[in-house]
Amino acid sequence: MTESILRLVFFLGVLGMMLLWEWRSPFRTFPEGKIRRLARHLGLMTLNSAVARILSGGGAYFAAEFALESHWGLFNQLALTYSLSFAAGLLLLDFAIYLQHIAFHRVPLFWRLHKIHHLDLGFDTTTAIRFHPLEIVLSTYYKMALAIAFGILPTAILVFEILLNACALFNHGNARIPAPWERRLRLFLITPDMHRIHHSTYKPEMDSNFGFSVPFWDKLCGTYCATPLLGQEGMEIGLKDQRDPKLLDFSRLLILPFR
Ligand SMILES: [Zn+2]
Repeated sequence: MTESILRLVFFLGVLGMMLLWEWRSPFRTFPEGKIRRLARHLGLMTLNSAVARILSGGGAYFAAEFALESHWGLFNQLALTYSLSFAAGLLLLDFAIYLQHIAFHRVPLFWRLHKIHHLDLGFDTTTAIRFHPLEIVLSTYYKMALAIAFGILPTAILVFEILLNACALFNHGNARIPAPWERRLRLFLITPDMHRIHHSTYKPEMDSNFGFSVPFWDKLCGTYCATPLLGQEGMEIGLKDQRDPKLLDFSRLLILPFR
């Protein structure tokens, strides 16, 4: 219960700061109103959390507690020190989520679900919580399997999920960072300018920048793209062939993967 409250406090805190930043220093304007986007995407997130809780029990955190108590998983078997196990857990989870994101693009069945995230014609901090419930459930099962197989510490799961969430809210931000700052920041953190490229309608750009927190995996695995072809201002966001605003309705987003 305490871990759920911690997640919620961090989420609301970062979301609040991001909304304020976007309001004070917006990068682009979108035809759809902010309140409407926020309401729809918060509604999706609430539904996703409830569905994931029902279908997974307590999720990856509770799977990690089980692994720790039962002495299951590689890190527990190797009897790593707490700090080493914590760091290894964070690193492993981050790389695993990078690979998961690639799989959601490359496997046609998974793409049907992940497409909901990319159908957004806008790009702001609320896009970070716009996912189909089944994608969240599959991702939760994946993290549960990793927690048990590797014996990832429950605290590593909790810190990772809070950080991942905060990073996603940040790197979907529709806000400006002055160029000299942005250049320095993107050396160790994925910035909105970097992640926006992943939301381009141009396929080679969409097939790049899969990371959510640090840029190292994209650079190591050759999926890094520094600048979009048409520039940050000219780049088209969304999917080329599906730009009907009616697709944005809450119920349509839920049934779209099955059509
Ligand atoms: Zn994606």
